Amino acid sequence: MKAAVVGGGWAGIAAAVALADAGHDIAVFEMAPQLGGRARSVAGEPPYDNGQHILIGAYRDSLTLMRRLGVAPEQVLKRLPLALPYPAEPGLRLPPGPPLIAFARGVLANSGWPLSARFGLLAAAGGWLARGFRCGASLSVAELCAGLPVVVKRDLVEPLCVAALNTPASQASARVFLRVLKDALFSGAGSADLLLPRRPLSDLLAGPATAWLGDRLRLGARVKQIEPGWRVDGEAFDAVVLACTSVEAARLTAGVAPAWSTVAHGLGFEPIITVYLHSTGSALPSPMMALREGSDAPAQFVFDHGALGGTPGRFAFVVSGAASWVERGGCAEAVLAQATRELRWATPPVIDKVLTEKRATFACTPGLARPPAFIAPGLWAAGDYIAGPYPATLEGAVRSGHAAAQGVATGAGTGANGAANGSPTNTP
Ligand SMILES: Cc1cc2nc3c(=O)[nH]c(=O)nc-3n(C[C@H](O)[C@H](O)[C@H](O)COP(=O)(O)OP(=O)(O)OC[C@H]3O[C@@H](n4cnc5c(N)ncnc54)[C@H](O)[C@@H]3O)c2cc1C
Repeated sequence: MKAAVVGGGWAGIAAAVALADAGHDIAVFEMAPQLGGRARSVAGEPPYDNGQHILIGAYRDSLTLMRRLGVAPEQVLKRLPLALPYPAEPGLRLPPGPPLIAFARGVLANSGWPLSARFGLLAAAGGWLARGFRCGASLSVAELCAGLPVVVKRDLVEPLCVAALNTPASQASARVFLRVLKDALFSGAGSADLLLPRRPLSDLLAGPATAWLGDRLRLGARVKQIEPGWRVDGEAFDAVVLACTSVEAARLTAGVAPAWSTVAHGLGFEPIITVYLHSTGSALPSPMMALREGSDAPAQFVFDHGALGGTPGRFAFVVSGAASWVERGGCAEAVLAQATRELRWATPPVIDKVLTEKRATFACTPGLARPPAFIAPGLWAAGDYIAGPYPATLEGAVRSGHAAAQGVATGAGTGANGAANGSPTNTP
């Protein structure tokens, strides 16, 4: 089969590799001069990441894809047990061992919380477990966790929610949040481990994929039109995987699949701002630390690149769910003030680089209808926004790429989540 993949982010790379491995003749169209999409490196010496990214042990398909392209995850990622230390507070730290026991031991050992808060969290987690980590589609994370002690919401639920769903707890889908908790915290040893990049982001997948795909790759090629048949800018293909952004996929399908296009077009977005500070000779007590967000404190996490094998003295501050900071401005200066106030520095930190991704992820709100992978026979979509259990993540993107490739290869008439005819699907 001759198949086109439109878009070379992690979803497009996953689809392209799966289709090529199945013996199909593929062409990958990517409008940018490089692969990687949102998860790529950007110019700098050494390069910056287009926003700090973290993976977790549960990212099974992403890790398998990296290995398929000759990348050893244990070399390019630093694996650490899940820990959320705050400046001057140890925070929650999961010990090694079977997930349920590790979670219980970690919570009970968190001396920063009163005993009542620790037992309150364990009781709530037990309830989620008993209900199979399922809840009503219309519930928000704030509603789900309304009965939890305030310190648990402040130190665990809110930072985890904004880190995983990039949506504030008051607006975030409890159903997706519970699914993330289930897969990260309660599904096999090591699932919750943090995997922090030790190399520039493009070295994880985009660079190796460029070499692997070779002349099947068409960089700097923005697809303008898809016509039934299927024709991609006039060139005939047996099948097409649209692995571009939801905005572009909606534009390209407006004529050929208007119902699907409308759903894709309806997604909202949440920004992420990454502020890189530089401070010569400084190091954090831990490679990743949580920070308390507030009206004058935008960042929720900070990463020490020197401790991760990157540039010594480079620190990435992450502001997720950053809509209010995009609107009011002054985020980098506020991060600098927050960093100066809350952390110890060998030399005064300075602002090095600020990256604002206005459409970093789709807004993962309760009851959100996401478009399915199947658009029409021979036309499939892949991307982190496609209906599935995960929020916008690398793993969601890779899994959707695999599902689309499988759909193309088998000629199936339904999407990975069972939705037919391009109709919208609520998160399962
Ligand atoms: C700042 C930031 C931090 C993040 N942190 C994390 C994290 O810590 N952990 C995590 O798991 N996820 C994180 N994410 C989310 C993660 O980056 C995305 O979920 C993932 O990269 C999406 O991949 P994708 O292939 O679906 O889409 P994209 O990466 O958007 O790829 C789409 C590609 O299609 C191309 N394209 C668009 N239109 C066309 C066209 N017409 N023709 C040809 N090509 C086209 C684009 O150039 C792009 O390369 C973060 C995202 C951002 C922005």
